[in-house]
Amino acid sequence: MKEDIVKKFKRYVQVNSESGNEKEFADLLIEELKSLGLKVVQDQWTEAHHSNTSNIIATLEGDGEDSIFLCAHMDTVKPGIDIEPYEKDGNIYSKGDTVLGADDKAGVAVIISTLEKIIEEKTPHRSIEVVFTVHEEGSLYGSKALDYSLVKSKKGLVLDSSGEVGGIVIKAPSKEKISAEVIGKSSHAGIAPEKGINAIAVASEAISKMRLSNVDRETTANIGTMNGGDATNVVPDNVNVTGEVRSFKDHNRGKQINHMKECIDDSINKHKAEGKVTTELLYKGYEIPESDDFVQEIIKSGETAGIEMFTRDSKGGSDANVFNGHGIKTVNLVIGTQNAHTMDEYIAVQSLTNCSKIIYNLLSIQKES
Ligand SMILES: [Zn+2]
Repeated sequence: MKEDIVKKFKRYVQVNSESGNEKEFADLLIEELKSLGLKVVQDQWTEAHHSNTSNIIATLEGDGEDSIFLCAHMDTVKPGIDIEPYEKDGNIYSKGDTVLGADDKAGVAVIISTLEKIIEEKTPHRSIEVVFTVHEEGSLYGSKALDYSLVKSKKGLVLDSSGEVGGIVIKAPSKEKISAEVIGKSSHAGIAPEKGINAIAVASEAISKMRLSNVDRETTANIGTMNGGDATNVVPDNVNVTGEVRSFKDHNRGKQINHMKECIDDSINKHKAEGKVTTELLYKGYEIPESDDFVQEIIKSGETAGIEMFTRDSKGGSDANVFNGHGIKTVNLVIGTQNAHTMDEYIAVQSLTNCSKIIYNLLSIQKES
């Protein structure tokens, strides 16, 4: 018998799975997917998974040739231990000293619940691949480490965006990290401060010259951490600075990264300090036109269920960025999480049921009239 989606969701959030410790939850999902009749495998664990388990890939052969994958991540942010969900006025909250974990167990519950419905009602459906990733929060480790030879679908959905259900994220930025180490020269701050080179001052001057925040319509930039120095009486000879640039346009991202590098190099040269700047592309951006057939199918699937559908962009990255980077057309569907990553996180019961309707219509093979 199909389990009520709310009951299922509450059951899932009570299984601890903070990022990196998804094994207990993964084992439970493997059991449930197998009992539904899906073929279930896990990809080969590597250190790059940053988890005590690896990604799950489950397959349900369908009636048509078409295959769609559905992805949600199994981890939740901290504090996410011993979550106690409760329902009030049509919403589900946590007790208040943890997150709720709807990010992304709402996605997991919607996927399994919809599969149950399709299987129980013997609905003709497309081939379905389910991908449950580990350690998405922070660095998208699971989807980056995923063995893509195990995924056959050329298109799919990640169920992991917050906001109003009906939203389809078709555009997301790339993100590049910038790290700088500035090395000055230490000296006694009282006796001979003029003999020192203050690394913190050198870095600060560089940062003060940087264009940050909303750089242009496509691009944001931030300096997020600065660590250095040992004591008030020592001119600090070392400081580490990290920041990021996000942009919908690769060109703009590159230009901004170069600008930030230049600011640091100029300040280092001016003060005769030393140092190095390194950058790392954390994920690529993507953009799928609204007119795309797959996007239009998703819109139709929602509208058939009476849900107002709309496309939008997101300023955040998700597993969808990584899938698109591997040539798999992927949108990120809004599942309706509110205040994600806070202890005020909640989700409406109707978000869960509406999301399931969209997915059900998309997966089932509609009879042509
Ligand atoms: Zn998420």
